[in-house]
Amino acid sequence: MKKIQLESKSERKGSEGHKSLPEEVLNNIKASPDLGLFKCVQCGMCTSTCPGARHTDYDPREMVKRVLENDRDVIFDDKIWNCFYCYTCQSICPSGNSACEVNQILRQMAIKEGSGVKKIDSFTTYGDSFFEFGMGSIPSAFFDDMVRDVGTGYLDLKINLDDIRSDLGLGSYIMKGESLKEVGDILDGTLFKDRLEEIKKHKKQNK
Ligand code: SF4
Ligand code: SF4
Repeated sequence: MKKIQLESKSERKGSEGHKSLPEEVLNNIKASPDLGLFKCVQCGMCTSTCPGARHTDYDPREMVKRVLENDRDVIFDDKIWNCFYCYTCQSICPSGNSACEVNQILRQMAIKEGSGVKKIDSFTTYGDSFFEFGMGSIPSAFFDDMVRDVGTGYLDLKINLDDIRSDLGLGSYIMKGESLKEVGDILDGTLFKDRLEEIKKHKKQNK
């Protein structure tokens, strides 16, 4: 097996003093303090059990290798969007690494750079729903898919949900008053709202 050439500590800093990609990943707020990125032995167990890899050309072992090699192109590689966060890779890794966490961080970087925004912009109605009802709901962009996949029964359920819940003795699932305000305050305080608006702006510009 070809040996990965890791950069030395001094080489890890880019020409402008930026952190190397592995350092950036490890210092990201999303990274667990014990993420074993540098301990990856390239055994490929993550890839062998990864459903994303089974059905697409996505390869978590290769993704981790590219991060360790400071290959920033991996951030813009469409393949990283084929992971669906099942965490199987994390549960099987003998080195305590999580390809899943690495992937989440790469995607956030892609979104920050702008290239990843088109991958998530159809979910903006999900974000709006949090502010309106205090909870997410199926984004309107996927209604047709739901009817296709679940059948017209999905529409019946959607239209008659309040009556069905009432028949079952359940109250409204929509938050009101102070609870709704609290959800809004949390989303505001965590900058969720700002990010949502940014994505919407990006979506409009690229129509
Ligand atoms: S299972 Fe862990 S050690 Fe093996 S290649 Fe994947 S991330 Fe690296
Ligand atoms: S979390 Fe992603 S990378 Fe890990 S096994 Fe699941 S699909 Fe593969």
